[in-house]
Amino acid sequence: MSVPIVRSVAQLRQIVAAWRREGVRIAVVPTMGVLHEGHLSLVRAALVKADRVIVTLFVNPKQFNSQTDLAAYPSTEDEDAAKLAPLGAHLLYAPDAEEMYPAAFATTVSVSGVSEGLCGAFRPGHFDGVATVVSKLFLQTSADFGFFGEKDFQQLQLVRRMARDLDIPITIIPCPTVREADGLALSSRNVRLSPAERAVAPELPSVLLETAERLARGSPVLPTLAEARAAILAAGYREVEYLELRDETDLRPMTSLDRPARLLVAAWLGGTRLIDNVRISRVSPD
Ligand code: AMP
Repeated sequence: MSVPIVRSVAQLRQIVAAWRREGVRIAVVPTMGVLHEGHLSLVRAALVKADRVIVTLFVNPKQFNSQTDLAAYPSTEDEDAAKLAPLGAHLLYAPDAEEMYPAAFATTVSVSGVSEGLCGAFRPGHFDGVATVVSKLFLQTSADFGFFGEKDFQQLQLVRRMARDLDIPITIIPCPTVREADGLALSSRNVRLSPAERAVAPELPSVLLETAERLARGSPVLPTLAEARAAILAAGYREVEYLELRDETDLRPMTSLDRPARLLVAAWLGGTRLIDNVRISRVSPD
């Protein structure tokens, strides 16, 4: 069995219109390809919730703030399609850049608040690119559900805000981060790590988890975060872009653990930028 591939908005709309006539519920799983178990977990969750699942594969040039990073992003469409077929995904939507952004394309969707700080501070234009392409994917697919990984937590909150603000009738479903056995979050970028870097990489989730536990037990926020930064660098990471405690819903900075929070990090290991995050809720004293 193979998964049908469509490349134009017109073809996609035809298929979706036929599904709508059947009255089925449709889910979309946006991806940039190079599918791994993290992506596949979203597809499996979507198949449980919806009758038809569209996986989108589009390496969105607008969300890359570095041309080198865009050029280095691998393309593995045949392998991706082969991974989706046995799961039972119903459609792979893989438009090219001209289909998504025809000549004279001039619109940008920009979400303030949640897109500020964290990755937004270090990747100028990135979240405008994400918001623009994801709003287009929602409108093109007219899906009832959109599945997103908590791995990209700021992106998840940005997509939720954008869909609400633009009255796009879609429910966003968050899915937990899938990790390797040693704790490293699966990412298409992990293949860029040398064997030595790969050995060091799990120190990031390990420091993150340990710090989350310390904060949950009442350790003071700023000194604890400073120690965690030092531990990440001591483990062999080249740079910590950010390590911050943020409100879980609106991502406002927090200096004490008075409501549900996320601890979010971005750090460079050699030439590879890795991100991760974990939830923290305060352990109430006995
Ligand atoms: P990407 O192809 O990197 O743009 O990711 C597509 C979707 O897969 C996004 O919603 C990501 O958050 C999600 N994703 C990527 N890695 C993981 C992971 N390790 N666990 C869960 N979801 C993930």
